[in-house]
Amino acid sequence: GNDVAPEEDNKPSLPLAGVNVMNILFVAAECGPWSKTGGLGDVAGALPKALARRGHRVVVPMYGDYPEPEYTGVRKRYKVDGQDIEVSYYHAYIDGVDFVFIECSLFRHCQHNIYGGDRLEILKRMILFCKAAVEVPWHVPCGGVCYGDGNLVFIANDWHTALLPVYLKAYYRDHGVMKYARSVLVVHNIAHQGRGPVENFFHADLPEQYLDLFKLYDPVGGEHFNIFAAGLKTADRVVTVSHGYAWELKTSEGGWGLHEIINDNDWKFRGIVNGIDTNDWNPKLDVYLQSDGYTNYSLKTLKTGKTKCKAALQKELGLPLRPKVPVIAFIGRLDHQKGVDLIGDAMPWFASQDVQLIMLGSGRPDLEDMLRRFQGQYQDKVRGWVGFSVKMAHRITAGADILLMPSRFEPCGLNQLYAMTYGTVPVVHAVGGLRDTVTQFDPFKETGHGWTFDRAEPGKLTNALGNCLNTYWNHESSWEGLQMRGMTQDLSWDNAAKIYEEVLVAAKYQCTEYMLIIFG
Ligand code: ADP
Repeated sequence: GNDVAPEEDNKPSLPLAGVNVMNILFVAAECGPWSKTGGLGDVAGALPKALARRGHRVVVPMYGDYPEPEYTGVRKRYKVDGQDIEVSYYHAYIDGVDFVFIECSLFRHCQHNIYGGDRLEILKRMILFCKAAVEVPWHVPCGGVCYGDGNLVFIANDWHTALLPVYLKAYYRDHGVMKYARSVLVVHNIAHQGRGPVENFFHADLPEQYLDLFKLYDPVGGEHFNIFAAGLKTADRVVTVSHGYAWELKTSEGGWGLHEIINDNDWKFRGIVNGIDTNDWNPKLDVYLQSDGYTNYSLKTLKTGKTKCKAALQKELGLPLRPKVPVIAFIGRLDHQKGVDLIGDAMPWFASQDVQLIMLGSGRPDLEDMLRRFQGQYQDKVRGWVGFSVKMAHRITAGADILLMPSRFEPCGLNQLYAMTYGTVPVVHAVGGLRDTVTQFDPFKETGHGWTFDRAEPGKLTNALGNCLNTYWNHESSWEGLQMRGMTQDLSWDNAAKIYEEVLVAAKYQCTEYMLIIFG
């Protein structure tokens, strides 16, 4: 076999996670800050750092060509569709994590449009990415030394990299190589599965007997090729990003055709709520609040800080400068999932209220048009910012009073977590991770973080928002209590990383969590 023991390198020593220090290879199609299109990019940018803080050695391969990384001198060829494709590996060591960048002709033109191209083009890129990523621990020196495959666990994310656990098994473990390496697959969103015609199997370059793993039948797609299905069956452990979503994935409505596979694999399945990057998303440190009239603030300076940010936001967007008017925000991809159309349906209600509404998003052209239309129609109260702007996302989160998330489904959702951290009160459809993280305000006990509604319908949304506005206008101390409870939660990745570590250890020893306790 090719088993290589991990060798010492000369990195600064970090506090160790006991006897269970692992080499972790975290592989995802996007990774912030380089290539973020949504929550997956946030997670890939932050969870590896939290695992590194626990003493693990973490490498994150990604594709692209960016200024920070240095060329390692390593090139390899991988076969995609019978063609040999050469990739070059680059490296950057940042915040305790080895980021490895895989560069090649196939990736170059999609760097700023990760999911661009037709389905087959995306599939080929993901095949190459997984093939090139799985060998990173052998070929790519990090801090001068390759990780090797001792104590190695791969964390793959969503369908894009769900081929990795399959390659690990088919190319290596079936042949006695990387015998002790394990894989964990994280489900961030089951709605995208890498579906295609059964013939797609032949692009994946796997032995014939693997075909059955990928074959799935459902009434919508008939018999088809499904990458997520194969990944879920093959990975040693499966994680999803909240408890609520873990439950929904087992139902026929929430599992999108994969619920039976998830139920069959329940023994290796677990929900872990995402954390947030407390350097990036922190009103005390936020770099986007350091100019144009915005200001950093903390719990102590919340009142003056938020008032200043709200005024700066109104000014920047050309809204009337009114400190007392509630500013309601929406931030997210414009698609069916995020339920921005429900806000559209409720627009007559918004028009009748003394509020300001700010929506930031990009995606479906008809929904982008809707944002522009409402801004034109309600010049003095609505702003629809079409585009992807990290800066505006931060500024809106700080300057708004209320964040609206009417998602039809939401695996975890990060914006409600960011909002609470910034003293912005969330109003959400109680689904998936939103149900886990936003508890309904109770005016008698003075508990809870925001308002929840139980069906994704405009009437339910306006009802919850109406109650929220009533508290905003008439019960100042309750409002301050809501803000304070939101801001004082520990939403950092450190908690989640600890639980991920348990899963990694369980995968490594192929034991249950219960047995783990006995192991000590
Ligand atoms: P999802 O992954 O389904 O898109 P999440 O709530 O998990 O949803 O994460 C979305 C992330 O993308 C957040 O960091 C959010 O601020 C960011 N985001 C979404 N749309 C935009 C946009 N138009 N401009 C800037 N950031 C955005």
